[in-house]
Amino acid sequence: MSANAPDGVTVVDHPLVQAKLTQLRDERTGSGEFRLRLNELSTLMIFEATRSLATKVQRIQTPLAAHDGQALARPVVVAPILRAGLGLVEGMLDLLPDVSVAHIGMFRNETTRRPESYYFKAPSNLPEADVILVDPMLATGFSATGAVTQLKEAGATSIRFVCLVTCPEGVKQLRTAHPDVEIFTAAIDPGLDSRAYIVPGVGDAGDRYFGTTG
Ligand code: URA
Repeated sequence: MSANAPDGVTVVDHPLVQAKLTQLRDERTGSGEFRLRLNELSTLMIFEATRSLATKVQRIQTPLAAHDGQALARPVVVAPILRAGLGLVEGMLDLLPDVSVAHIGMFRNETTRRPESYYFKAPSNLPEADVILVDPMLATGFSATGAVTQLKEAGATSIRFVCLVTCPEGVKQLRTAHPDVEIFTAAIDPGLDSRAYIVPGVGDAGDRYFGTTG
């Protein structure tokens, strides 16, 4: 974990995360390998993002004796922001196979340059759940901010945001609008270009994951 991250932000600087992120960034990485790396990164990132989840005592019987073990205290909901957030779901479900998946559809209004919601579907246990909102790129932060607002309006009380790459603008936007939402990222890049892409970033994560570039 990086020591000098902004308040409320965890930068996961594990060597495996950083090596895989570098492969993801490389323009020579095609969509097949991009998918594999994104899946692996999402598993590693959810491991860190769930570190502070509460547990409760669970009494079980081993083949030899009774044992007071642990279980997660609350249900977990993974909530991808469509489309690119879907790329992070599979790797997270490898570690958390029993969780529910909410879906949050956002598109960018090219006139206002702000995200608009076109789809929202979340499970009814949202108020009791620890929600992991996911999108590989936290760029301007407006989509993430809107998604958190929607989740809260639907009753969510505990939300973490997991991305792979962000920048100061995105962090500031999300943390200012929702200071209760912790951010987990593998990198904080220097900033955005004129089209609101993170630089150096990875390019368009959704296009690279789904093979829709060019
Ligand atoms: N979305 C992406 O896919 N990439 C960026 O750099 C910013 C937003």
